[in-house]
Amino acid sequence: MSSPERDFVRAHLDDLHADLDAWLRIPSISADPAHAPDVAASAEWLAAALRRTGFPVVEVWETPGAPAVYAEWPSADDGAPVALVYGHHDVQPVDPLGLWEHPPFEPTRVEGADGPELHARGAIDDKGNVAMHLLGMRAHLVATGRDTPAVTVKVLVEGEEESGSPHFAALLRERADRLRCDVVVVSDTGMAAPDVPSAVVAMRGLADAEITLRGPAVDLHSGSFGGGVPNPLHAMATLLASLHDQHGRVTLPGFYDKVRPLTDRERELMARVPFDEAAWLAGPAASRVATGEEGFSTLERIGARPTAEVNGMWGGYTDPGHKTIIPAEAHAKITFRLVADQRPADLAEQVRGWVAANLPAGIQADVHVPAGGVSPCSSDLDSPAMAALLAAIGQAFDRDPADVLFTREGGSGPEADLVDVLGAPLVFLGAGLPTDRIHSPNERVLLPMLYRGAEAAAHLWRELATVPLRAQ
Ligand SMILES: [Zn+2]
Repeated sequence: MSSPERDFVRAHLDDLHADLDAWLRIPSISADPAHAPDVAASAEWLAAALRRTGFPVVEVWETPGAPAVYAEWPSADDGAPVALVYGHHDVQPVDPLGLWEHPPFEPTRVEGADGPELHARGAIDDKGNVAMHLLGMRAHLVATGRDTPAVTVKVLVEGEEESGSPHFAALLRERADRLRCDVVVVSDTGMAAPDVPSAVVAMRGLADAEITLRGPAVDLHSGSFGGGVPNPLHAMATLLASLHDQHGRVTLPGFYDKVRPLTDRERELMARVPFDEAAWLAGPAASRVATGEEGFSTLERIGARPTAEVNGMWGGYTDPGHKTIIPAEAHAKITFRLVADQRPADLAEQVRGWVAANLPAGIQADVHVPAGGVSPCSSDLDSPAMAALLAAIGQAFDRDPADVLFTREGGSGPEADLVDVLGAPLVFLGAGLPTDRIHSPNERVLLPMLYRGAEAAAHLWRELATVPLRAQ
């Protein structure tokens, strides 16, 4: 199948490659203060690229941390809805450098099993996903013979996503008027597999807790006191063992109260996503067995169900030889992955309730649950914006929109802030793959995926203008 959008994208791939080649050479690592000038240069590069694409409004927004880039192209059509593209221009650190086959900031083309790849830090996360919108916008205008896009397109590309977006929510609140929109298009994700067009529909949130248990005022001699007083490490082991029941469910009181149950249709759709559990186990997981909450598939467990993981536990004597003590303290760190509609703010009370209910006499507990956390987010499968997204992806991949699959991401960035502050629904358009090694050495983008992503971006602006996006 052909389309004017596809024809334009295919005829201008050199532009996309030139953009990526220049942008990927800027080492915009937000986590390293030494790279702050590079993050700033990355923002300026993108601002210039958006101006060159034709966006009439382009601004670099300073924050207390790294700058974000904002652009806006109003539609000339009366009452056209407003779409806001979200992405980020900062990248992950590159260590260990020795594991890279090509220097991370020298984009290198490699012929891979699924087609040509471009290797570089940020190739897909997230410069590739943002760059595809530059070409996509030009394709949209030429293909539809328009001077302005069919919907007003705003773009917000932050510079601190890989550092946890510490100033992003404040930026959204401060600029909420400028950012007002009817839908947010998140372009920082990917699809299920090279020939499997799909859309992310949910991301899990995060909350964390640190627990300290105290027994005796000081470490005690186990010969004099052992067997006669409570041991905080024993208490911690018992407590943590009670975090899950025998069905793999988290035992915090109220933990599941706000969890939106998976519908039969959602489960059926998840089951259609190709997933080779044996290959997954043999991959980076190198795990011998898949395990978790009873009654759910592995894909459901890692994408659609909330979890608790003990990340660390320590206390007492751990140096060579032995030291015959009853330790004064025991410590543990736990994190929780949350799903819609759980809220990180609810965890403090739930963790305290769980600790109190499982604490032996004579042991004191300090429970620290930091404020903040990350809220989960999800898209409505039946919204008008989703219909437009599926139509756009379907055209780019020569598939029926009904054949575009839905996937879920186990982790997340600041997407929930976009929903909370802007009050607009989210859809996800990204061209990455689970095999792109994001955050790892030899990050790559599969170029045919990127080309289709650019085409889907072009179709999306036309499609969004045809659905009733505005709340009636
Ligand atoms: Zn990213």
